[in-house]
Amino acid sequence: MKKIGFFLLIGILCLDVQLFSHVRQEAEFACVIDRDRLYTAFRDEQVPLEVYETIADGKKEEFSERMFCYFITGDTGSDAAGHLQKKLERKKSPILDEFTSYIDAVWQDVTYFPIPQSQTREEMDVSYCDSWMQSRTFGGKRGHEGCDIMASVNTRGVYPVVSMTDGVVEAVGWLKLGGWRIGIRSPSGGYFYYAHLAEYAADFEVGEEINAGELLGFMGDSGYGDTPGTVGNFPVHLHIGIYINDADGNEVSVNPYWVLCALDDKKLVYDY
Ligand SMILES: [Zn+2]
Repeated sequence: MKKIGFFLLIGILCLDVQLFSHVRQEAEFACVIDRDRLYTAFRDEQVPLEVYETIADGKKEEFSERMFCYFITGDTGSDAAGHLQKKLERKKSPILDEFTSYIDAVWQDVTYFPIPQSQTREEMDVSYCDSWMQSRTFGGKRGHEGCDIMASVNTRGVYPVVSMTDGVVEAVGWLKLGGWRIGIRSPSGGYFYYAHLAEYAADFEVGEEINAGELLGFMGDSGYGDTPGTVGNFPVHLHIGIYINDADGNEVSVNPYWVLCALDDKKLVYDY
């Protein structure tokens, strides 16, 4: 019953049409409801169909699309979310299972914040904000498919970077945009991408298993260059990307900001 009461509550809030009328109003939405409770609910609970029907008042599909777009992207109205929304509109009854699998891909396996806390040095802090899909121009005009965790001490190779999830190394090495990067596919299907590293912690190979909390490398400023090892084109930071595949196999960028917020109090402690 607790579950149903909870979803009735968010249903009342969500059905306020005004709330969805503007792309950036999800911030307000996130403040109104208890974000941590939502994260937990969507991570741990299967959402019963009748609950959706009740709260959406006959608009089940619309409701779940919007919920999906919000929880996956933090965004209820942008073109990026619209791409997936259109696909979901065409699928009627199986939408709930699909929705749940996407939620799981993002939330099921996340365990640790990617930057551990310094045991001794308070000044070794990090900060981040919601910059998903902000405009970027290097390599052509595009949206920022990720969240940047900025170093308060702008020195490459100092801040450790750990894996947020268990998983398997799917890609490693140099990318023009991402610099030294590593991409890890988590057991529930999310792809977690760590970019601009100063160096790797080991000679990782594709297919290698990784544990949540395992040291991947060190934060840096590599990237924005064809030449492997290009550094210094921007401040030291970790770019986190999260991607899922939709039912048709299309890769969809997810907003990592909300995931990072949820992991903010789940930092390992390292001596650095
Ligand atoms: Zn970035």
